[in-house]
Amino acid sequence: MGRLCQTDGLTEDQRDILEAVRSFVDKEILPVATELEHADEYPTEIVEGLKELGVFGLMIPEEYGGLGESLLTYALVVEEIARGWMSVSGIINTHFIVAYMLQQHGTDEQKQRYLPRMATGEVRGAFSMSEPECGSDVAAIKTKAVRGDDGGYTITGQKMWLTNGGSANLVAVLVKTDEGADSVYRNMTTFLVEKEPGFGETAPGVTIPGKIEKMGYKGVDTTEMVFEGHAIGAEQILGGEPGKGFYQMMDGVEVGRVNVAARGCGVANRAFELGVEYSQQRETFGKKIAEHQAVLFRLAEMATKVEAAHQMMVKAARVKDKGERNDLEAGMAKYLASEYCAQVVEDSFRIHGGYGFSKEYEIERLYREAPMLLIGEGTADIQRMIIGRRLLEDYKLKG
Ligand SMILES: Cc1cc2nc3c(=O)[nH]c(=O)nc-3n(C[C@H](O)[C@H](O)[C@H](O)COP(=O)(O)OP(=O)(O)OC[C@H]3O[C@@H](n4cnc5c(N)ncnc54)[C@H](O)[C@@H]3O)c2cc1C
Repeated sequence: MGRLCQTDGLTEDQRDILEAVRSFVDKEILPVATELEHADEYPTEIVEGLKELGVFGLMIPEEYGGLGESLLTYALVVEEIARGWMSVSGIINTHFIVAYMLQQHGTDEQKQRYLPRMATGEVRGAFSMSEPECGSDVAAIKTKAVRGDDGGYTITGQKMWLTNGGSANLVAVLVKTDEGADSVYRNMTTFLVEKEPGFGETAPGVTIPGKIEKMGYKGVDTTEMVFEGHAIGAEQILGGEPGKGFYQMMDGVEVGRVNVAARGCGVANRAFELGVEYSQQRETFGKKIAEHQAVLFRLAEMATKVEAAHQMMVKAARVKDKGERNDLEAGMAKYLASEYCAQVVEDSFRIHGGYGFSKEYEIERLYREAPMLLIGEGTADIQRMIIGRRLLEDYKLKG
């Protein structure tokens, strides 16, 4: 282990958890990641191993069978896992967001019903805001839930880009409901939709058509979800009350952003490791390429970016753990870590020369993975919008 991405002030428990995960990544993920990714194969054995390590219940409170760890522990675990293979961190991320939303906003009954089985990985979560015609503009969603005379609802519409849409059996879905509110944001509701894992009709009126073919981030399934008159009871509304869905989802996405930042740090750290290793092996003009100043400077820049992104990600997690609003820090961390990750991966690719273009080299996989981080949990433009608006609140002119 090198000296990048170290975190001060961790407890012994945190250090033990990270040590166990790092060892799992080195032994069980890194040796098979590229082969599984090229085959677009779901990493079943890895997921089973992570269940045993307790990763699915890392942040779920102990009273529900989880480890009750902080967002910081979770983010550092994600960073380690993404260093091994980003898709595996994607498998955990939506699960973690749904568990977090249940913890924060669920009724007691909903928490009792789902959290203990989420902690073991028996119930696996996905979350769904995006639709074919909108992603950034969440308020433009069209999928609707209409309330019937019996108090139940019927959902109709189409969702898009569900990470783990096939493998999950519980999906937190944002839909429009008519609450008669004057704000579009208060006419949205999150439903907890139960379904079978797999593809086709996975619950009455709920179809998962198949996997979307992607340039990278393979292994983990990303799907559409089609609702054709899906009947669902009011007890499946997150928190029991309609009209709060937008705010619940934004809360979930805020912790999700720390998670994406952590993934960016992990992938960038791995890209640096690959670059620094290769540059000390490859020779040109009679010396190792690391001895050419242009390559050495490239390595120096890469490492500086990895370290800066890590520190900012840690800060964003710690602010949330203190119970404070962290939209500014999470936005900054996500923005910086994803941009730096893409740059560091590109630099490592260049260091590899022609071999970077070969599927035999791991950097080829990282090169196709990094762009997803620029988009997921809000694009760079959306992060800049959030950061900018928050700054104007803080630095508002007086008088
Ligand atoms: C692999 C993958 C997995 C995903 N998983 C999930 C998931 O699990 N659940 C889920 O709900 N969604 C998921 N998404 C969807 C993702 O959140 C959206 O793709 C993302 O929010 C962007 O939305 P969009 O694709 O509709 O792009 P658009 O919103 O159409 O944006 C297109 C371009 O316009 C820019 N833009 C848009 N609005 C503005 C603005 N106001 N100011 C400046 N620029 C703007 C954007 O930055 C972008 O460059 C996933 C996406 C991918 C690729």
